[in-house]
Amino acid sequence: MSATPPGRAGAQPGRAADVSGDPLLGPVVVAEAQLQGRIAELGRQITSDYSGRAPLLIGVLKGAFVFMSDLARHIRLPVECDFMAVSSYGSATKTSGVVRIVKDLDLDLSGRHVLVVEDIVDSGLTLSYLRRNLLARHPASLEVCALLVKEGLQRVDPDLRYVGFRIPPDFVVGYGLDVGERYRNLRDVYVYLGAVGSVP
Ligand code: 5GP
Repeated sequence: MSATPPGRAGAQPGRAADVSGDPLLGPVVVAEAQLQGRIAELGRQITSDYSGRAPLLIGVLKGAFVFMSDLARHIRLPVECDFMAVSSYGSATKTSGVVRIVKDLDLDLSGRHVLVVEDIVDSGLTLSYLRRNLLARHPASLEVCALLVKEGLQRVDPDLRYVGFRIPPDFVVGYGLDVGERYRNLRDVYVYLGAVGSVP
């Protein structure tokens, strides 16, 4: 079978989304090459740390779906994947720490080596809730891998085993992160300049 999709013969790999001229996108906070380099490193570290154990990756939807997909492919172990979706009560930009599980896991966690894959940690309240909820299901171990952590904003100690990047406390989009469901497909992470909660 040809590796070239029909109708794409000769197409050059390029930017998936054309964001030039979007006035709501500010500077790039983490560029694609940095993301991919760091995720490869995290994958190597996780592969080494979990040697002999099969980690169960739990992606927190929706924001973590892009990161989880790239990270999983850098782990050279027989991983399993499951997802849960949570929604936080609070304003558009700040969570209250009261979290509702919108989609629960399909798999039983008892005796499993669970690695929670998060897109971004801001106050840490969502993660703190998740940790308590998941620990009550008796996993053999529970660790967290967060791609982005906002500097100095955590109201609780999020106890993160793996961190991709520490970033300034701006609201960011791209690489899975959205505003009103937009921008998840961007390959880089950008500062969002618009008013969060009033998406055009
Ligand atoms: P926390 O409970 O740590 O304050 O918030 C975590 C959740 O808030 C993240 O999983 C994410 O859904 C959302 N969030 C926090 N900061 C940002 C941000 O800068 N951009 C986007 N798009 N979502 C964010």
